[in-house]
Amino acid sequence: MASITVVGSVNRDVVLQVRGLPRPGETVHAVGSREGLGGKGANQAVAAARLGGGTHAVRLVAKVGGDAQDILASLEKDGVDTGWVATADRTRTGMALITVDEPGENTIVLDGGANQELTVADLPLELGTSGDVLMAQGEIPPEVTGAAVARAAARGATVILNPAPAYAFGDDVLKRVDVLVPNLGELCALLGVPVPATRGGVEELLAARTLPVGALVVTLGADGAIVLDSEGMLHVPAPRVTAVDTVGAGDTFCGALADSLARGRPLRIAAERAVLAAALSVTGVGAQSAMPTAEEVDQFAQQQENTR
Ligand code: ADP
Repeated sequence: MASITVVGSVNRDVVLQVRGLPRPGETVHAVGSREGLGGKGANQAVAAARLGGGTHAVRLVAKVGGDAQDILASLEKDGVDTGWVATADRTRTGMALITVDEPGENTIVLDGGANQELTVADLPLELGTSGDVLMAQGEIPPEVTGAAVARAAARGATVILNPAPAYAFGDDVLKRVDVLVPNLGELCALLGVPVPATRGGVEELLAARTLPVGALVVTLGADGAIVLDSEGMLHVPAPRVTAVDTVGAGDTFCGALADSLARGRPLRIAAERAVLAAALSVTGVGAQSAMPTAEEVDQFAQQQENTR
């Protein structure tokens, strides 16, 4: 049985719903608020575990504060193995302060907390083998992400890197990545170019610039995703849905991609399924709470077929 290891962050999310996002110097009143579980590592692990439904093991390698018992229990309930989640002595669990406006657009302020104390020594020596998937992001110290990528690649695992937030991942890290999954902003930050206004502009950018990774899957919000692999470029359109809350869409996408690759599906098929899973996730409130099961994605895929 293939396994998925996610090395990444765990956060407590505080979500404030507002009519309009505050501008600098402005105070706005929330029209609703709630607390949830988040962090890209935890989110992507939950997305993969929910879609996997036990077909493969999903473990999370992370660090939390002593205040995270409820978070660990929730992850376990979703089928995520938390045996490699370490506890920091004196630091709180990471926190994300998220504002979401009525159209579903969001801004996020992160307090890294215990995530910033994750060290290379906290990584398991065995980070997957051929057929397994290692998935990492940017919300932990860069040297830990780099070490996890190098260790998993050396063992023959398929390495997915979601460069979020996008800091300067060196070519030494990127060249070991099988599938890089940035959103449009992250892609442009990595390339050091302005964000193109159209999808055609993105495609031109991808044709002109190269990153030393195996394949690229760029997520484009309501416009779906673009896959760039050895066969060329493929646009995968997103189904039309009513977006309620886009927090966690990218994480659902990454978790779904990992789930499919662990099942041995080809990357392009994996991206098509990830677009469906992520579209479903924006129709519900919250990050982890809105992530679908495999059956829900199957049903949605069938509905899409029927309306064609
Ligand atoms: P992030 O959440 O990292 O900013 P995106 O906004 O690109 O990333 O969203 C990730 C994926 O979620 C997209 O590729 C798409 O599949 C899906 N998605 C996001 N917003 C919508 C939307 N409004 N309608 C349909 N799918 C969406």
